[in-house]
Amino acid sequence: MLRKRKKTKTLILGDSFSSNIYVTQDLNDSLLLSWAGSSSTLDGWEFTDTCVDKLPLFLESDCLKRLGFGTSEIDYKYVLIGGEESLRSKISLKSEEDSPHTWYDLLPKTRGKVYKPILSWCQIIKILRSRVGLPRLYANILSIDPNEKTVLLEGGATIEYENIVSSVPQDLLLTKLRGVNPANVSASYARLPYNISLIIGKVNQKISDDEVIVYALGRKRYIASHIILLKSSINYLKNEYALIYVLTPLKRDTDKTEILIKNFSELGNVGIEVRDVVFARSYIEKYGRLIKPKENPYSKLLEEAGIRVIGRYGSWKELSICNIIAATHDH
Ligand SMILES: Cc1cc2nc3c(=O)[nH]c(=O)nc-3n(C[C@H](O)[C@H](O)[C@H](O)COP(=O)(O)OP(=O)(O)OC[C@H]3O[C@@H](n4cnc5c(N)ncnc54)[C@H](O)[C@@H]3O)c2cc1C
Repeated sequence: MLRKRKKTKTLILGDSFSSNIYVTQDLNDSLLLSWAGSSSTLDGWEFTDTCVDKLPLFLESDCLKRLGFGTSEIDYKYVLIGGEESLRSKISLKSEEDSPHTWYDLLPKTRGKVYKPILSWCQIIKILRSRVGLPRLYANILSIDPNEKTVLLEGGATIEYENIVSSVPQDLLLTKLRGVNPANVSASYARLPYNISLIIGKVNQKISDDEVIVYALGRKRYIASHIILLKSSINYLKNEYALIYVLTPLKRDTDKTEILIKNFSELGNVGIEVRDVVFARSYIEKYGRLIKPKENPYSKLLEEAGIRVIGRYGSWKELSICNIIAATHDH
């Protein structure tokens, strides 16, 4: 049977924030290839005539300016309930020895200033994608042959490439690489999934336009680790509503049943009463927290295979948007 064969210079894997800013720099003769059905953490939910963010992301500096997006400085009010130690144990894994950096360590631990884009993150990722003129292909990768420099896709098509830039999860990428035993990969990468819920409703708390309130739940009685409150800027809601995010690390002993319902009782325990709910949804962020491998046995192998890794789980270390912009934009 005749198989379709395509040639490209740079093959960029993942339709992510990092890929879409990487490709604004070069690139002729490139192809952006993404797994069918997978999305960026920045992709939101459609709601009324707009989109709402699945995750509330804040910036440690005004780094988004480099991509041409305006930001505003906001007050980050951090309220720790219980102890830091107990919070840490909720978001760490048994195999973790030192306390590594997380997105959570990048932001203030008292009241402080952080930055937030004027647009929502889901609008930003749409704009970034619209700026890119490269062809895109959505297909599942069956295998990558680094010696032949070919990628075999589900359905039988083959892509010949000169180099790869990958933002897809590093552990997933390795399981596709010829010569790597997939059974050994998972032992080298640890991660903690998160249940992330967004509830839009009215609350019994005053939140100003330029403020975010972050409750860090350092007590065992709470299964969530963070509750984050923001004032909604959705026009249709006439400013009276709040966006309430509840982040729950999914450890083996977490009871996953009806987590969205449990979120409401956790909110009540913190003293947040919610009424007139107009939106409530949850999703599981598989790579909620990445735990850095002590030594990465695969970094040399990836380098030798001509694969450059970018982004949060592509590189397994660029934790925040500002980290990614610094590492990827001026590559
Ligand atoms: C709970 C949480 C809180 C965070 N808070 C902050 C914050 O406050 N500030 C901040 O700057 N950053 C924060 N981050 C990090 C932020 O989400 C990332 O910087 C941002 O998502 C950009 O990452 P990226 O470009 O690497 O990947 P993304 O844009 O998220 O894209 C990931 C790519 O990987 C692919 N992919 C993922 N999983 C699979 C799979 N299983 N199979 C195939 N393909 C897959 C997707 O197709 C997609 O193309 C937080 C992250 C989490 C999880």
